[in-house]
Amino acid sequence: MRIVHIAAEMAPIAKVGGLGDVVGGLSSVLSKQKGIDISVILPKYKSLKTQYLKDLKIIKKNFKIFERSRWQVVNIYLAKVNGVQVYLIEDKKNYFSKKPKIYGYKYDVHRFLFFCKAVLEFLKADFRKIDIIHIHDWHTAVIAPLYKDIYSKNLKHKAKIVLSIHNLQYQGLCKPKDIKNLGFNGKYYLTKEKLKDPNRPKTLNLLKGGLVYSDIIIPVSENYAKEIMTKELGCNLEKITQKYKKKIKGVLNGIDQNFWRPEKDKDIKYKYSSKSSLKKFIDAKNNNKKELQKILNLDEDDKPLICSIGRLVSQKGPDLIKAAILESIKVGAQFVLLGSALDKKITNSFKKLQKDLKKNKNVSLNFEHNEKLSHKFFSAADFIIIPSLFEPCGLTQIIGFKYGVMPIVRETGGLADTVFDLDDKTISKEKRNGFTFTKFLISSQTSTLKRAINFFKKDQNEFYEIVHKNMKLDFSWEKTAKKYLTIYKKVL
Ligand code: ADP
Repeated sequence: MRIVHIAAEMAPIAKVGGLGDVVGGLSSVLSKQKGIDISVILPKYKSLKTQYLKDLKIIKKNFKIFERSRWQVVNIYLAKVNGVQVYLIEDKKNYFSKKPKIYGYKYDVHRFLFFCKAVLEFLKADFRKIDIIHIHDWHTAVIAPLYKDIYSKNLKHKAKIVLSIHNLQYQGLCKPKDIKNLGFNGKYYLTKEKLKDPNRPKTLNLLKGGLVYSDIIIPVSENYAKEIMTKELGCNLEKITQKYKKKIKGVLNGIDQNFWRPEKDKDIKYKYSSKSSLKKFIDAKNNNKKELQKILNLDEDDKPLICSIGRLVSQKGPDLIKAAILESIKVGAQFVLLGSALDKKITNSFKKLQKDLKKNKNVSLNFEHNEKLSHKFFSAADFIIIPSLFEPCGLTQIIGFKYGVMPIVRETGGLADTVFDLDDKTISKEKRNGFTFTKFLISSQTSTLKRAINFFKKDQNEFYEIVHKNMKLDFSWEKTAKKYLTIYKKVL
């Protein structure tokens, strides 16, 4: 079976959030399966972590792509990343190869439309038969209509299209002329049955196109699969997701358990594993906590340490996170935040709080994307707080489990599929593993945070026994990849 993933991110070479983890983790596990030929196609970003690329070579020079009434040229490279064949498309425009960031430009839609056209032209010129084209989120969603309507027309063997939904909120809006710029009939797609946006009659919605044209849609958790059909979380596409309900199958993400592995993690000083004795585990966690306190210039004591790691955007509940910071200090805990500063207004509100708390040695707020520091956070923290408004899957609670960190989460999306409240007697004791709250309110979060801290303070041994046991939970890609393979086989 030949599978081609086309995406905007792939860990570890190009990662902003969970999308990168999924493409990297899933493709790496599938590449080890017998009878599977898997490759990933990505833009050749300037920020690509080239140290992970093996055997990089150019395979097509000055490959011509028609765009904006003229021929543009790209170079195509091939490399191996964790055993996976990765094709990298290098543009000579100002789209990817000269830009420092992966996203965040006004013309992101044009950048990814161009990428998708280049990929389709490359696949056409490549001639090899493909069974599954697996696309991810809005960035590559346009592949579905263009492949089905145009590129597969003369093919004897047509690939099936699988669309993963990592986040329905980002949809990729454009005008028919943007599709015309690729050399296709943009107006053809401006109909209710095709790509017309449900709320903007002159606008095309690329993600909607993916939903309509793909053969299977995979939201990244079972709960999120249900949520995207509701008015609250359907992001104006709920009528479409309801219409195509039969194509939707939620699959919870896995994590790369070789990468997220505290016994081998080179970014943490004191290693530990689920097999360590409880004493060794507690000692290592406490020593890592002291290390982090030193690095961040915090008071060095054994207060409970709460962390938050994520993109600072409205989805992640920034007001609740800020409230959690203040509440943590009040109840005698420490709080460390590692937030990717993607939204100026939200980041500035955190910076204000940082200024107000400048002298407080129990809080450290860090505004950057820092992979190494995130590992140190996971190795040192007792709790991770995730009060998201919505969360398609959420990886930080899962990584948290692997590092002996107890999650405190709002029950939504994949968080509700993975975290079960320690006080909820309706759930079997075996399954309970963290703390949860339902309402997206500071007051609900505060009472849950207090319950969590009291639990920690009341009996630390019991707390550590639970988080140590949680480390054994199986979120491996090996397990999850089987579900994807079953779906691939079924759709074929
Ligand atoms: P999302 O995909 O919405 O960003 P997820 O929880 O699914 O959220 O995945 C986030 C991933 O990105 C995790 O691997 C997390 O550790 C990582 N991450 C998020 N923010 C940062 C940051 N500021 N520094 C380092 N890693 C981060």
